[in-house]
Amino acid sequence: MLLSRYLLPVLKETPAEAQIVSHQLMLRAGLVRQMAAGIYAWLPLGLRVLDRIASIVRREQDRAGAVELLMPTIQAADLWRQSGRYEAYGPEMLRFPDRGGRELLYGPTNEEMITALFRDCVKSYRDLPRTLYHIQWKFRDEVRPRFGVMRGREFLMKDAYSFDMDEEAGRASYDAQFTAYLRTFAAMGLRAVPVRAPTGPIGGNLSHEFHILADTGESELFYDSALDEVDLADSEAPARLRALYAMEAEEHAKVADCPVPAARLARRRGIEVGHIFFFGSKYTESMGMEVQARDGQLVHPLMGSYGIGVSRLVGAIIEAGHDEHGIVWPDAVAPFDVGLVNLRVDDDACSATAADLQQRLFAAGKQVLHDDREARGGEKFATMDLIGLPWQLIVGPKGVKAGTVELKRRATGERHELSIESALSRLAG
Ligand code: ATP
Ligand code: MG
Repeated sequence: MLLSRYLLPVLKETPAEAQIVSHQLMLRAGLVRQMAAGIYAWLPLGLRVLDRIASIVRREQDRAGAVELLMPTIQAADLWRQSGRYEAYGPEMLRFPDRGGRELLYGPTNEEMITALFRDCVKSYRDLPRTLYHIQWKFRDEVRPRFGVMRGREFLMKDAYSFDMDEEAGRASYDAQFTAYLRTFAAMGLRAVPVRAPTGPIGGNLSHEFHILADTGESELFYDSALDEVDLADSEAPARLRALYAMEAEEHAKVADCPVPAARLARRRGIEVGHIFFFGSKYTESMGMEVQARDGQLVHPLMGSYGIGVSRLVGAIIEAGHDEHGIVWPDAVAPFDVGLVNLRVDDDACSATAADLQQRLFAAGKQVLHDDREARGGEKFATMDLIGLPWQLIVGPKGVKAGTVELKRRATGERHELSIESALSRLAG
């Protein structure tokens, strides 16, 4: 991709409206633009990150046996009347009529819709268990949209829904999602703390939130610092993490005897990037979904729901990975793998070498953003540091004469002068 043909409106100054570093950097690095309060356009660079996050989420959902579908953003109010949540949901729900006066809403979540869908296709215990998910835009008319995409009004969520015949099977579905969440966040280079959560208006009795630790997080957490030591690659990690204590401060305050010795009790702020619930038959009962059990009885399947804030994660990953020069993307979610910097676009040898490198990296399956703009070196370096691609490959006239290029690792700042061939094999080998 040639930067001279790309849409990358970087800003030199920190926008005054952005209070936290991820929001500032997302605007400065040209990832998003606000179109209305809490409503964002995803510019090309931001969209690439969003897509990569979504594909990691998808891969881990698929690995856990969940099945993808796609439900619409717009829902009928009548669907929500069946569960009784239409009145209960409050002003966060965006409601509007169509031209025939039928009441519609922009979905803030999809329990009702998935229950109705499943009710209409499934009648027997043979069709259970099932976990279905989609990755779709949601709208919640938040009182205070802020921090950019972290608390937007329109945001992208992965929401999964499990249906099981009994409590034991339902808990197994919950556990499969719990494990998938740990893998999902780890694959993005994040360490997420599972926090026992109250279930709130969604009902039910088993729930965890997953938080990324960051000083700018909206939630205050108390947790057993032994959580920091758990090896996420260990197959015992989910069980270990669940056994350890972690609570939001508000909930922690309600516990009199804190089970964690004072010396081990850590207090940090967190960003909620995922939330899972097991709530049983709340929706299958209210919406009349029954299946025939093996013994012929009709039963209401038990459900769980499992959300991941896909667009919020873009901000959370930046909160967890940046320095004074800009974003430092983990390799797995970076918008491009390599930023190729041509320091002298007016030098034929430089431009020919850069064009050749772009082609060869592309052929090796690498995503390359090639800065072929007529601009000073200093500006090109500042842009590359700001947008935070994992590698910078720098082509200059002196090096080209000697057959070398410079390779810089964004995260560490390490630079190496290498022959063209060894730079290529480092990046694509
Ligand atoms: P919060 O407590 O942050 O308001 P929530 O508990 O209302 O979130 P859930 O219903 O659990 O949110 O939604 C699942 C996930 O969707 C959350 O864990 C979060 O990552 C994401 N999410 C929720 N609201 C927003 C929002 N306004 N903007 C961006 N992401 C959001
Ligand atoms: Mg939540």
